[in-house]
Amino acid sequence: MTDLPARLLLGPGPSNVAPRVLQALSQPLVGHLDPAFLAVMDEVQGRLRRLFGTANALTLPLSATGSAGMEACLVNLLEPDDAIVVGVAGVFGERMCEVASRAGARVTRVETEWGTALDPTAMADAVRRAAPRVVAFVHAETSTGVCQPVEPIARAAREAGALVVLDCVTSLGGIRVDLDAWGVDAAYSGTQKCLSCPPGLSPVSFGERALARVRARSRPVQSWYLDVSLLAGYYGADRAYHHTAPISMVLGLAEALRLVEEEGMEARERRHRDAAAALLETLGARGFEPLVPAEHRLPPLTTLRLPDAVVRHGEADVRRALLERHGIEVGGGLGKLAGTIWRIGLMGENARRSSVERLAAALDDVLA
Ligand SMILES: *Cc1c(COP(=O)(O)O)cnc(C)c1O
Repeated sequence: MTDLPARLLLGPGPSNVAPRVLQALSQPLVGHLDPAFLAVMDEVQGRLRRLFGTANALTLPLSATGSAGMEACLVNLLEPDDAIVVGVAGVFGERMCEVASRAGARVTRVETEWGTALDPTAMADAVRRAAPRVVAFVHAETSTGVCQPVEPIARAAREAGALVVLDCVTSLGGIRVDLDAWGVDAAYSGTQKCLSCPPGLSPVSFGERALARVRARSRPVQSWYLDVSLLAGYYGADRAYHHTAPISMVLGLAEALRLVEEEGMEARERRHRDAAAALLETLGARGFEPLVPAEHRLPPLTTLRLPDAVVRHGEADVRRALLERHGIEVGGGLGKLAGTIWRIGLMGENARRSSVERLAAALDDVLA
């Protein structure tokens, strides 16, 4: 086998995988229609419903990464010339605009400065003006470390008769997600962030209003693979072949979801908050300053402005030394924030004070 170095993955994803999940991934294969595997699929779908906070029947681990979950939500709900309002507060809001415009939708962007939260009033105004089919935004913006206000935006969208699409890639399994209480119609996530699985699956959930919209389409979804009415054949009651589910990954996700429920989502969210607080305190003492105001911070992903000591050494060189000499990965800034911030993920397995202590010791050594 390839001899890989051991890494502590404190970037924006992937995060380290729990030993029990690694074991689950290495189980001998069974078929994707084997009753033993279908029982695991049932279990995964049930646990995903609980974690998403939804009763949506069509909740499933899509066989692709988080970006495909984004694409699935948008291409099923949008037809050419439909209007969509997208909250753009970082890279992943930008990506939503790109996917929606390729689907032929008319995109209205509501922007906010990177590192700040979307303004629910600006979103509501845009929704009233555009009367869109869909309102889409990111719950946990991994490029900026901002947790966006979901409820007021979702409420305004629903009052205008729009469907709500929410990106939960860096929130699911790290902080509370409550789709039904928030009035979200379609949502997607990824396995490699707060669920601490490898990348490769995208948990998605479609509510009844979203599915009614898909049934009312005037033309079929342009993507055969992501068409939810076809996916429902396998992930619904019939369990009919559509594509071959990535069996090993689903076994890994099942184990990851068991770990989440054994810990309890409340305790897990507290662990993420405590780890982020420890990070702010420990790196704050070394001159790092939070980019995001306290009320909008995202515990699984903290963005920090760099102190002079790091800038002087060259921030990319410091990150390289952390990786090569200490086996620790942290993320640099993206886009407008490149070179000025770091993105430090304390996600899933890694949301512990011990990760912070290892990072601080390594940093002190690199800067010495
Ligand atoms: C990582 C991420 C994605 C994309 O997921 P991939 O698994 O890389 O395709 C989408 N949205 C957010 C908020 C993310 O953090």
